Amino acid sequence: MAKDLRTKNSKTCFQNIKKEHPEYKTVQSQILQDVLRRLDRAYKNFFDKRAKYPKFKDKYHYTSITLPQCEAKRNFGKEGYVYIKNIGYIKIKAHKDFDPTKVKTINIKYHAEKWYINLSVEIEEEKEKPVILERAIGIDKGINSIAATSDGELYLNPRWLQKAEKKLKKLQRQLSRKKKGSNNREKQKKRLAKLHEKVANQRRDYLHKISYNIVKNNDIICVEDLQVKNMMKNHKLAKSIANAGWRMLDKYLQYKMEREGKIFIKVNPAYTSQKCSRCGKIVGKDLSVRVHRCECGLEIDRDVNAAINILHEGLRQLGIVA
Ligand SMILES: [Zn+2]
Repeated sequence: MAKDLRTKNSKTCFQNIKKEHPEYKTVQSQILQDVLRRLDRAYKNFFDKRAKYPKFKDKYHYTSITLPQCEAKRNFGKEGYVYIKNIGYIKIKAHKDFDPTKVKTINIKYHAEKWYINLSVEIEEEKEKPVILERAIGIDKGINSIAATSDGELYLNPRWLQKAEKKLKKLQRQLSRKKKGSNNREKQKKRLAKLHEKVANQRRDYLHKISYNIVKNNDIICVEDLQVKNMMKNHKLAKSIANAGWRMLDKYLQYKMEREGKIFIKVNPAYTSQKCSRCGKIVGKDLSVRVHRCECGLEIDRDVNAAINILHEGLRQLGIVA
C-alpha cells in the first residue's frame, strides 16, 4: 500500500478528500499518507495474528502525527529547533546529541497535556566491544528462594509478594462465591483485577532488580531449561505462580545479557538437584531436605548445590570445561 500512495492516483485521491473535508486542507499530504500507512500496518499485524482487530480512532484518540524522512531532512534549520511546515520553528530539548541530517522521521505526540517530538535518527552501529568471558554463574530457580546462585547467594521470594499472592487467592475465592451477574460480583472483579496488576508490577520490579544485579556481575549465565524441568512434573509443588516468575526471570536475564553481548545458556536440569557438585555422587533427597550433605564433606544449601551443577553443565556445553 505504501508504494501505491506515491502514485499520481493517490495525489488525486487526497485532493478529493481535501475537497470533501476542507479541514484537511492545511494538513500536509505526507501526514495523511502516514495515517493510511498506520492503518495498513494495523491490518497486517491483525492478519499476521500479532494484534487484535484495529479499533476506529476518532480525532480525540488520534494523538500523534508522523512526518516522513524527506520532509525532516529538508526542514532542519537552526540548532535546537525543528522546522515544521505550517507550524514553524519549534524549540526542542534534545536528550541526546544527533546529526540533524540523519533524521529519518519526525513524530509529534500529544500526551497528558504536553507535546512531545520524537525524532528517529540513523546512527552508525557501535563497534562490538570484546567481551571478556571470565565471570560465570549458574542459577537454580526454586520456590523458597526464587533464585539461588552458584556463588551462594539466595534471592528469596519476598514476603510482601507472598502476602499479596495470598490476598489474591482470597479475593479469587470470594469472587467464586458471588452470584453471577450481581453488582457485588462486578465490584469484586474490579478489585481483583486491580490487585492483580499491582502484584504483577511488583513482581516485575523485583525480577528486574535481581536480573540487573546478576547480569552486571557476570559474563556467562547458565540456567535450567524450564521446558525440560516442567516435563519432570512434580504435583506436590503448587508452582503455577512460581513458574510464571521463573519464566519472567529467564526472559529478563536473557535479553539483558544479549543486549551486552554476553552469554546466556539453558541446560538440561536432570540430576542437578541430586548430584553432589564437589564429587559427583548422587545424593538422593526429597524436597523437604533443604541442605545437601555428602560423604565427601560438602554441606551446602541444596539450591546452591544445584546452581553449581547447572554452572558446570553450562560450561561443559560451551566447551570451556571438560
Ligand atoms: Zn560429594
